[in-house]
Amino acid sequence: MAIIITIDGWSACGKSTLAKALAKKLGYVYIDSGAMYRAITLYFLRHHIDWTDTKEVKQALKNITIEFSFNTKTQESEIYLNGENVEYVIRDLVIAEKVSDVAAIKEVRKFAVSRQQKLGEEKGIVMDGRDIGTTVFPKAELKIFMEADETVRVERRFKELFEKNPNVTIEEIKTNLEMRDYIDSHREVSPLRKAEDAIELDNTHLTEKDQLDFALQLATGKMVEKITIA
Ligand code: C5P
Repeated sequence: MAIIITIDGWSACGKSTLAKALAKKLGYVYIDSGAMYRAITLYFLRHHIDWTDTKEVKQALKNITIEFSFNTKTQESEIYLNGENVEYVIRDLVIAEKVSDVAAIKEVRKFAVSRQQKLGEEKGIVMDGRDIGTTVFPKAELKIFMEADETVRVERRFKELFEKNPNVTIEEIKTNLEMRDYIDSHREVSPLRKAEDAIELDNTHLTEKDQLDFALQLATGKMVEKITIA
């Protein structure tokens, strides 16, 4: 019996790496909810939307379509904004610098959350983000909350971004992660926090394999539990 798995946590602590690997192993769909907020931010920046103006935000959201499509070449799901593949461009630091402000807007969250919930209707999904276990799928069968030491998170994100842009500095990454974590955990609407029934996973000293084994064990346990109860 398929279940819903949520992976929430702080910025750059390896949520998507674990979520992707877990989904692959289980034959589940992986959805990167952060990519949705990044795509909306990209749209707002490109169209010079004043996001402090609720009317303008509401109007802009009406013109946004977000879809995920599985790329058979890379074997990964990619995000499309109004038909354009924006998987790569949304990872830019320019987007990362604005995304938490955009994601704190009530109308934006309503827009994204309703689409995320739709994607989970059939279950068999692993979704990562900040409020997936608390707001999007509060009844999810398995919730994981990830954390890692800040230095490790900054280094990991730096390596990732440096490959694309050698001009990026470690200081910029550190400032960005700290700023996003602060805004994400202090906003009014569904702030980042651990769901009461989420299992904590601190991966500071864990390999990707360790984390996957841990999550797989939890997931298969929940799947068996579900079959027994059903
Ligand atoms: O996961 P990622 O780092 O790509 O997310 C980018 C930003 O999107 C986060 O810093 C946060 O502001 C926002 N976000 C959110 N809720 C989610 C996922 C992401 O507010 N479920």
